[in-house]
Amino acid sequence: MSVERVDAVVIGAGVVGLAVARALALQGREVLVLEAAEAIGTETSSRHSEVIHAGIYYPPGSLKARFCVEGKAMLYRYLDEHGVPYKRIGKLIVAAKEDQIAALKQIQERGATAGVTDLEFRSHNEVVAMEPELRCVTALWSPSTGVLDSHSYMLALQGDAEERGAMIAFHAPVERGRVDDDGIELQVGGDYPMTLKAATVVNSAGLHAQSLARRLARFPVEKIPPHHYCKGNYYTLSGVKAPFSHLIYPAPEQAGLGIHLTLDLGGQARFGPDVEWIEAINYDVDPRRADSFYDAVRTYWPGLPDGALQPGYAGIRPKIQAPGEPAADYMVQGPADHGVPGLVNLYGIESPGVTSSLAIAEHVAAQLA
Ligand SMILES: Cc1cc2nc3c(=O)[nH]c(=O)nc-3n(C[C@H](O)[C@H](O)[C@H](O)COP(=O)(O)OP(=O)(O)OC[C@H]3O[C@@H](n4cnc5c(N)ncnc54)[C@H](O)[C@@H]3O)c2cc1C
Repeated sequence: MSVERVDAVVIGAGVVGLAVARALALQGREVLVLEAAEAIGTETSSRHSEVIHAGIYYPPGSLKARFCVEGKAMLYRYLDEHGVPYKRIGKLIVAAKEDQIAALKQIQERGATAGVTDLEFRSHNEVVAMEPELRCVTALWSPSTGVLDSHSYMLALQGDAEERGAMIAFHAPVERGRVDDDGIELQVGGDYPMTLKAATVVNSAGLHAQSLARRLARFPVEKIPPHHYCKGNYYTLSGVKAPFSHLIYPAPEQAGLGIHLTLDLGGQARFGPDVEWIEAINYDVDPRRADSFYDAVRTYWPGLPDGALQPGYAGIRPKIQAPGEPAADYMVQGPADHGVPGLVNLYGIESPGVTSSLAIAEHVAAQLA
């Protein structure tokens, strides 16, 4: 088989891979995106909450804090410029009990350190005026949080990248590769098996980024971080309309943000994601988890009727840390970190990855410029 030469390959057409492909194409580079599935964004990028996060939960100085705040501003601008539907509906982070107020204060301080200076406490009465059915002692109001049509956003990124000459090959799984002196060789399976040699490779394979890096011969394996899967299950409402017009979040918990209420652009409510550590990828939602959803949601919405929750869908967080370990930051691993010229591995790109996508892409493109 002959070896085709390409300038830049992006592996994975999720929201981050597409944003990276666009950024490289805007630099005038020849870009080929290799996607194992039949379409863009079929994995984690279509299994999330579609929230444009404000950037308030992440440790000061972390990549998550930086990319979320920068990415949010870039994203709102991009959505406006490209006519992608979104709503800046804001969110209330709720203290259901007095002893949760300290956690909200900490979020406000973290947010301010990260540059999110618009967070305000709302008294019980002010919250009730905004959301009469919400139970809380107080809440933190985040006006810059929004929701978007994430599929339209990905289509816009794809369109932008293709307009600048990028190509996307579907049914094109990268099976393995090798680091050579003159570039990175990739074996692509699927419908049209081929061997490529690329000067630049961005591994944006989401849940599979670590396993793909392990299949790159001569890549230093000791540089590959651990990976763990943390499922987030969602439940939807049936037979009732949620009486809320803003996003409602409880005080955050360890591996997730707590079972929150988000609204899609049509006002449909969904609850979740919860936290379920799993060994292998599967997207089933166990109906037996319903009880824990009722309990969690009723801490802030006591009026949730019996029988109203239905199993919805699930997404899987690509975690670097194991259960019980402190939250890991994004790992954007470039040549300076692993010693392989032209290669960037993206590990642990969990939430707020959609919000951060344009900022991550700009960072990756700068590393490779
Ligand atoms: C439950 C949950 C809720 C979330 N909520 C939010 C939210 O509200 N707001 C927010 O900003 N972020 C949210 N996120 C985070 C966000 O969804 C992710 O950060 C983002 O979708 C990751 O995109 P990605 O492109 O890195 O990965 P993916 O979307 O997983 O894309 C990876 C792609 O790589 C392809 N691929 C894998 N291996 C190969 C291979 N060998 N060859 C070729 N192709 C390959 C896959 O088919 C896939 O299309 C949430 C995540 C989860 C799990």
